[in-house]
Amino acid sequence: MTGLFSGVRRTEILGSLMKQPVDILIIGGGITGAGIALDAVSRGLSVGLVDMQDFAAGTSSRSTKLVHGGLRYLQQYELALVKEIGRERNIVYELGPHVTHPEKMLLPIYQDGLLGLHTVSLGLKLYDYLAGVKRVEHHQMLSVAETLALVPGLRQEKLLGAGYYVEYRTDDARLTIEVIKEAVARGVKAINYVKATSFGYENNQLQTVTVEDLMTQQSYLLTAKTVINATGPWVDTIRTLDEQVLGKKLQLSKGIHIVVDQSVLPLHQAIYFDAPDKRMIFAIPRVGKVYLGTTDIAVTTVESNPRVTEAEQIYLCDCVKAMFPEVRLSTSDIESCFAGFRPLISIAGKEVVHLSRHDEIWNGPSGLISIAGGKLTGYRKMAEKVVDQLIRPYKGKGLRYLKCQTRQIPISGGAVGGAHQFENYIRKQVALGMTLGMPTVEAEMLARLFGSNVEKVFGYHGAAKQLEQVHLSVAERMMLLYCLAEEMVMTPVDFFRRRTGRLLFDLSWVYRVKEDVLQIMSAYFNWRTDEMTKFQTQLEVEIEISTTAIIPS
Ligand code: FAD
Repeated sequence: MTGLFSGVRRTEILGSLMKQPVDILIIGGGITGAGIALDAVSRGLSVGLVDMQDFAAGTSSRSTKLVHGGLRYLQQYELALVKEIGRERNIVYELGPHVTHPEKMLLPIYQDGLLGLHTVSLGLKLYDYLAGVKRVEHHQMLSVAETLALVPGLRQEKLLGAGYYVEYRTDDARLTIEVIKEAVARGVKAINYVKATSFGYENNQLQTVTVEDLMTQQSYLLTAKTVINATGPWVDTIRTLDEQVLGKKLQLSKGIHIVVDQSVLPLHQAIYFDAPDKRMIFAIPRVGKVYLGTTDIAVTTVESNPRVTEAEQIYLCDCVKAMFPEVRLSTSDIESCFAGFRPLISIAGKEVVHLSRHDEIWNGPSGLISIAGGKLTGYRKMAEKVVDQLIRPYKGKGLRYLKCQTRQIPISGGAVGGAHQFENYIRKQVALGMTLGMPTVEAEMLARLFGSNVEKVFGYHGAAKQLEQVHLSVAERMMLLYCLAEEMVMTPVDFFRRRTGRLLFDLSWVYRVKEDVLQIMSAYFNWRTDEMTKFQTQLEVEIEISTTAIIPS
């Protein structure tokens, strides 16, 4: 059960990275680093990637989880950004239909709201045009009756109707891991829990990176022709390892989300609504739950696992109460919550809410390339820009391709014959799963989660049946075995939080199966008792962080 991308191969991967210098070493395994790794390897460059936490444990698992066309940027007149990311989301959908799904979004319009009917109608028309929205997905304007039929609990007073348009919902952490897996399948040496700690130079040019394997506390010296700093909110921290940071800098903005049960907030339609303070809030249904966000608060220091404060939770509950007068939502209804930092580019005197979400490449004097800003949605295009810039010296030196290839490369699990074939593909795989004796619902869960990799997941059926953990179904054991062998799961938190998302959206399942998962992982990695205790405690701490708010003194 040791696949290409298994945690038991860490020493081997690090050893080979140490022995063999790479063309590019990427620091950061969020969506930005993942996208660059895939782009670079598919053009023929040799690539290494390290992340000090799990892949996507930074901002890339803490977003609103929308691959969106950027309607809000229209309000800020960022037409070029709307055009670029709007077009890009179709590509992201085509390349990974198992992690991206069209989701109709309702934008209610009120007499006393931010935007009037005509503005919304005109804005959505412009958005359809700029973002290249498919004709079948063009927006509609809804009457009051049509709006209330879709969202019965909405505040009716002063309601004028709604705009109805398509967004794409994703699972940010899974999108990231699928991009990394595709990169790894093409030769990238990627490894989590490895921290870049210092740099080495020759003739003032950056040449080596000292990294520490945080699982073993061993250090390694890695050599690369180019080092890329794709560390999201940590971009300036890494820049200070290299140079005195002058000029442009990041401005971090904290955003939080809460998750509540659909029985408390009976919402079956995604909506994007005005908060009483005129900010905009998303409320998105997801498998029996609804998640809501977000906030936008300037912060000065970055943390690995930021906590949600009680005040932030109360703010979102109040937004819900203002929009759904019958709903009695209080902080005690919140099942889980998560917070993250947007790595925005600072502009003196501008509030974070008004800062652009565009990306920039910052070239350091030592050759360090830092990627600042950006969106989940624009990761592929951002990677293309970075690799376009850095391949110049390689021209004529045995590169497979000069031009970006990722437009044609499905991400791992996305090879289902195109997005339009996705449902057909699922049907076929469900039938196959049933021949193995799996209930339909479980076969479907695996097929939807893993896309075209489900065929590999089914390969773990025999091994899963031999396990004796009673709280996990055979399909759930297959899911775990695949994640261990093919998705570099190192800790129970990796599995529950980022590979399955259950720690945020299905906590009762986590409580039910966590001991079984720990047992299977312990056997897989041969953990000592103290290691088992460490990972068990880590999981309890993560559950505590995700379920309780803090009250700052
Ligand atoms: P990260 O995901 O943070 O990755 C950086 C990685 O670098 C981390 O994993 C970290 O561990 C690693 N790292 C740091 N230092 C080191 C080191 N010394 N050594 C090794 N590794 C290191 N975008 C959208 O498109 N749609 C949305 O709906 C959306 N909603 C958002 C909502 C919120 C609240 C927030 C905060 C952001 C949202 N975004 C959204 C923006 C998007 O999530 C980010 O732009 C994106 O995830 C940033 O990815 P990244 O890879 O640059 O950074």
